[in-house]
Amino acid sequence: MEPQITHKRHYASVILPVKYGGEISYILPAIFQAGVGSRVRVDLAGKVYPGVISRIMDQEEVPAFTPDGKEIHYKSILDVEPLPPILPTELRLWESVALYYLCSVGEVFKAAYPALQVKQEAVEPRKSVEHFLQEAAKWDAGVNDVIKLSGVQQKAYESIKGSFAHALGKPVLLRGVTGSGKTEIYITLAQESLRRGQNVLYLVPEIAISKQLQSRLKKVFGERLLTFHSKQTAAEKARIHRILQYNAAHPQEAAESATVVLGTRSSLFLPFGNLGLVIVDEEHDSSYKQTEPAPRYHAKDTAIMLSQIHKAQILLGSATPSFESEYNCISGKFALVELKEKYHGAAVPQVEIIDTIQAYKTRQMAGNFSQKLINEIRRTVEGGGQVLVFRNRRSYSPIVECQECGDIPKCPHCNVHLSYHKYNNTLRCHYCDYVARFTGVCRNCGTATFKYRGAGTEKLEEELAALLPDISIARYDADIASSKRAEEQTLRDFQDGKIQVLVGTQMISKGFDFERLKLVAVMQADTILGVQDFRADEKALQLLSQLMGRTGRRGEQGKVLIQTSQKDHPVLARLKEHNVPGDSSLPPLTAHLLRERQEYLFAPFVRMVKIVVKHRDIGKLDELCGAVTEKLSGRKELQYKELTGPFAPVIDKVRGEFVKCFYVKFARNAGLARNKALLQECIGEIKGNQAIVLDVDPL
Ligand code: ADP
Ligand code: ZN
Repeated sequence: MEPQITHKRHYASVILPVKYGGEISYILPAIFQAGVGSRVRVDLAGKVYPGVISRIMDQEEVPAFTPDGKEIHYKSILDVEPLPPILPTELRLWESVALYYLCSVGEVFKAAYPALQVKQEAVEPRKSVEHFLQEAAKWDAGVNDVIKLSGVQQKAYESIKGSFAHALGKPVLLRGVTGSGKTEIYITLAQESLRRGQNVLYLVPEIAISKQLQSRLKKVFGERLLTFHSKQTAAEKARIHRILQYNAAHPQEAAESATVVLGTRSSLFLPFGNLGLVIVDEEHDSSYKQTEPAPRYHAKDTAIMLSQIHKAQILLGSATPSFESEYNCISGKFALVELKEKYHGAAVPQVEIIDTIQAYKTRQMAGNFSQKLINEIRRTVEGGGQVLVFRNRRSYSPIVECQECGDIPKCPHCNVHLSYHKYNNTLRCHYCDYVARFTGVCRNCGTATFKYRGAGTEKLEEELAALLPDISIARYDADIASSKRAEEQTLRDFQDGKIQVLVGTQMISKGFDFERLKLVAVMQADTILGVQDFRADEKALQLLSQLMGRTGRRGEQGKVLIQTSQKDHPVLARLKEHNVPGDSSLPPLTAHLLRERQEYLFAPFVRMVKIVVKHRDIGKLDELCGAVTEKLSGRKELQYKELTGPFAPVIDKVRGEFVKCFYVKFARNAGLARNKALLQECIGEIKGNQAIVLDVDPL
């Protein structure tokens, strides 16, 4: 029978990249070839936006009148873009993310397809796809199959496979000490996925620190390896989109074109067709969380959503897993697999605490370095070893103070002191882009008597160079890394042994694998312990463990010296036992800190949503905070365990805006999703709510 020709109009619900009213209905003219996923252009309040069709509707399905009885005038879709449609799996991911992170689907769309790309995508990079296909076909799993897993690795690998087979969709956490061969296991699993013709997503917290990994993967996967991150050119991003879109559209060729995407969190939103495996390396890393702008998502949890949509295997790995993941293993939501020893068999590094208070009293300090530390550095270097000196602050000194009038220069936009950077003679704010030339003259009293208080990496480098003049010392922090050339040169020189001591920030704690690295010194450890934040101890533990993991990579035992004025702090006091492989599946310090979290009602024992309110006018800010309190305590159906706030965060003014926060803590039960939606609704009812942000699972 001929299909009946209807003269009924069709409508399309369109996802728009905006915060409110994310999905709007438009007339879909019959001459447009469009369906769910089509990329379109529409008019909203006089402005043209790119959009994506999420649903096609008949006339009966769209209301003719508003709830208060006014006739609705629907506009027409302006045009359909000649771009590959969004896949159903992508749309489902956007919806899951929006629901979980309390934002609009349009905000997820915007993150997945930044405006810049639309133009670039339209440029047909067919050649590069053809080139890819030619090269990809040459990839031979057998030839590249070079890894021979050790006995313990083989056992871990089989447990992982066992879990995938019995409970597909259940994430596996691989807790393996640094150097235990987690990467080798990832590679083995990725090869298998490619052989099945399924894509692999291999997530890393930052690409910059994954250079070594990148070249290792390149050897195994050749052209099949695609690297994706936000700092790439639009053309390269478009190429990767096209390859994956081709792959999704041609499932029959999957075995010849499946890829391994090595990427940062934004690669979660790539157009994967047939995804077989998702790996989240260093799953504890806080770079996985996006805090600004929405969606404020965590890549680990989003990766789990993605794997569920694709029915793909998912593996999380870390030497120091997040407490959330540890908790999920205890509750049975995740499966735990462990690797307790290094492949090269090195012992756990020796940890020693140096009490700086005592050292000052006994005059054993030279500037910021204890005599003991200086001796150890000298001895290590004389023995042919290399040293990392860690300090969590860049700059020369975090504070400068006028000795005449006591004035301390502050940022005009943020409530923070300006840091003095000696190498370019500036005062800088690390929270906004404010920079001023350092004249040395106090603007308050006109004298030139500034005193440098505290020491950042730059000053430590200078002090060390004076103390150990025969040793070659360099610095590695964001100031150095602002020049790509200087950054790469520094790393190469350290690799080649031209630099013996490297002074650096967090940037040195991750991913480095240097054979001759024998000693890690942690300066002013109290500054990582003393932070007012419920995750401070967890973060300190992870950071210190990562630093410990840098040493002793090749058979020998390394050493970690920690200078601190809080030698009895539980994290330091128990760090030694923490990394010794024991029989219990939960490291003792983690167990201890988790009990504290439970007692004081913090994540992961409750689900937390942080409400952040920002305003230039402090009066308005207080009004908004009042409205939040009133709304949340006034709504009977909204059930939470605790509402704390408003309180001022440590930095209570940033970029000209005053900041206040609340925490809402929900029970982790069946009503959670409904309660979160209610919270979102309550905030939506507050006048001026553009100034309010909801951050689910804040870090
Ligand atoms: P992790 O990812 O757990 O830190 P890696 O996978 O980087 O550990 O392994 C540490 C080092 O040991 C690397 O240099 C790696 O090449 C080597 N290694 C690990 N497992 C094997 C193996 N099965 N065969 C050969 N080398 C291995
Ligand atoms: Zn500032």
